[in-house]
Amino acid sequence: MPTFVYMTNCDGCGYCVDICPSDIMHIDPTYRRALNIEPNMCWECFSCVKACPQHAIDVRGYADFAPLGHSVRVLREDEKGTISWRIKFRDGREKNFVSPIRTTPWGSIKGPSEYSAPTASAMQSQALAHEPEALKVEALPTLARTRFKKGVV
Ligand code: SF4
Ligand code: SF4
Repeated sequence: MPTFVYMTNCDGCGYCVDICPSDIMHIDPTYRRALNIEPNMCWECFSCVKACPQHAIDVRGYADFAPLGHSVRVLREDEKGTISWRIKFRDGREKNFVSPIRTTPWGSIKGPSEYSAPTASAMQSQALAHEPEALKVEALPTLARTRFKKGVV
């Protein structure tokens, strides 16, 4: 269900651009409003829908599995701490769900370079991630040649 933007509601704040993991929400340079530039690449993660302060983003069902007439609306209400989902089926049935907002507050996630350098044992961990500059180390560990099955000369 790719997203689309109600241009008259959008104020061009760019929250959807920042949050989209697929990098497909862009601001139109002429109209200064957001648009989904590649609906086929939409993850349907709803991040942009939930982040939009103007409730300007909606989702459109693909015709093969979501025939015309249905709708899915999401409303994020920070003051109540809730996200409400309203699903309308094309036969008129409606389902409503309310869940608590579990998103980490905007701007509160620390980047890897904001943590202290990894310990010696952490450097050997399978969970080690990120580039040396972000980890504040000279280089990442490499496999010893003797660990290859036939060795490398
Ligand atoms: Fe991007 Fe997710 Fe919104 Fe699709 S639903 S446009 S992937 S943020
Ligand atoms: Fe427009 Fe909403 Fe995107 Fe802001 S988050 S640019 S208001 S669609």
